[in-house]
Amino acid sequence: MAKTIAEIAKELGIGLELGKVPNASYCHGRLGRKPAIVLGRYSDPELLLISFFHEVGHMLIEREEGPALAKLCSYPKWELERRAWLRGLWFAEQRGIHFGSQAISWAAIQLETYAGYEA
Ligand SMILES: [Zn+2]
Repeated sequence: MAKTIAEIAKELGIGLELGKVPNASYCHGRLGRKPAIVLGRYSDPELLLISFFHEVGHMLIEREEGPALAKLCSYPKWELERRAWLRGLWFAEQRGIHFGSQAISWAAIQLETYAGYEA
């Protein structure tokens, strides 16, 4: 049985706030001394799950590449987001959590919203 997101957040020392934001596909990661993942009210639980792992991806990248963060910050937003999706999905995969093609396509659409972000 896969761990719940609450268990995974606890394991990573990350706070978790669910459903406080009405936006259906709101996800946000708060870094710093008290990191937390904030998720909105999703109607599709798989999209909530994949968004959770995206935010986990951001946090893992910050932890793993902290010293190189200045370099990372010089990357375009789209590249940072792409890396967070891939890191988070890999992390989920390692825990036996797999996503269907609809959820992956939805993630790709979210990523595309950052195309040309700096322009
Ligand atoms: Zn992101």
